[in-house]
Amino acid sequence: MDLSVPMVEVKMAKPGIALYWAASCGGCDVAVLDTNEKILDIASIADIVFWPIALDFKYHHIEEMEDGSIDLCLFNGAIRSSEQQEIARLLRAKSKVMVAFGACACFGGIPALGNFTNRAEIMRRVYLEAPSNANTDGALPQTLTKVREGELVLPELFDTVSTLAQVVDVEYFVPGCPPPIDIILKVVQLFATGQLPPAGAVIASDKTLCDECERVKNEKKISRIWRPHEIIPDPERCLLEQGIICCGPATRGGCGLRCLKANMPCRGCFGPPPGVIDQGAKLVSAIASIYQANSQEEIARMVREIVDPAGTFYRFGMADSLLKRKRIQPVERGS
Ligand code: SF4
Ligand code: SF4
Ligand code: SF4
Repeated sequence: MDLSVPMVEVKMAKPGIALYWAASCGGCDVAVLDTNEKILDIASIADIVFWPIALDFKYHHIEEMEDGSIDLCLFNGAIRSSEQQEIARLLRAKSKVMVAFGACACFGGIPALGNFTNRAEIMRRVYLEAPSNANTDGALPQTLTKVREGELVLPELFDTVSTLAQVVDVEYFVPGCPPPIDIILKVVQLFATGQLPPAGAVIASDKTLCDECERVKNEKKISRIWRPHEIIPDPERCLLEQGIICCGPATRGGCGLRCLKANMPCRGCFGPPPGVIDQGAKLVSAIASIYQANSQEEIARMVREIVDPAGTFYRFGMADSLLKRKRIQPVERGS
C-alpha cells in the first residue's frame, strides 16, 4: 500500500497590473510595448488585468472587481473629460498602488497647453474655424444628443486640464514623454521585489538634468536666442550657452540625456527637479541670469526671440504650475 502523500501543486495568484490612458497621445502605452521581449518578463511576474490599448477589457470588468484588488495601476494621460475623471476614480478605488505614468499624468503634459485657452475657444477653433472643416451648420459636440435610435451621451470636456494627482491620490510619479524603457523596467522590478520607495516618490533622478549633462559649461553670457533649426550647435558645449533654450536647469534628470545625445535641447519632460515648484518660472530665471541685455530694447528683443513662450516654459507642466491655467471661467471653476 502506497502511503506517500500525493504532491499538490499550489499556484500562487500573480499580482495584477492595470494600464490606462486618459488624455494621452498613446506614446506612453507604446513605450511599454517598446520594452520588446522584456514585456514577457512583466507578464511572467504579473497578470495584466486591464489595458485598453492591447486587450479588449470593458469598464464593467473593472467595476466588478473588489476594491484594492489591482496591485499596480500605471495611469498615463492627463484628465480633461468626465470619462477620464470617472475612470481615474474607479481605478484608484480598485488599485493598491496608483502611478502617474508619463509627463501628461504627472504634470498635465501637452494636453494642459489647452489651459492657456478654454473649452469654448478650443471648440470654436477645432469645429468652426479650422480650414480642414466642412461644418457648414456650425454644429458643436453636445454631451446629450437625441438620435433616431435613442440618446447619444458623450463625456463632458472640462474647461481645465488636470494632473492625475489633482483628481485622485497617487503613490508614485514616473516622468518622461514617454518614460524611458529602463525606468519602466525599474518600476516593475521595484514593484516585483517589494522595494518600492516611500509613497510620493518620483522614480527618476534627484538631480537636475544639468547636473548629469557632460557638455562644457563656461558660465558664458548670451546676447541672442536661437531656435534649434536656425543654427547647428557645437555638440560638446552647453546648448543654453550657445543661445538655444535648453530646459536642463529647470528639469529633473534621469532620462539618460535623450535629447542632448541627439544634439537637441531638453524640452523639460521630466518635470521640475526637487525643490522647484514652478518649472517655467525656474527656466525664465535661468535664462534671465545668462542673457546679456543692457537696455529696454535689448530685453524687448530677447522677448521677441522667444517665439513660443507658453510652449517653451510650460510645454509639459502647465497643469502642475503655479499658473495652472490662463483664465478661470467662474461657472466652471473646479471642473
Ligand atoms: S507623456 Fe508624452 S508620450 Fe505619454 S501620453 Fe503624454 S504626450 Fe504621449
Ligand atoms: S542647459 Fe542643457 S546643454 Fe546646458 S548643461 Fe544643462 S542640460 Fe546640458
Ligand atoms: S532631455 Fe529633457 S525633454 Fe529630452 S527626454 Fe530628457 S528630460 Fe525629456
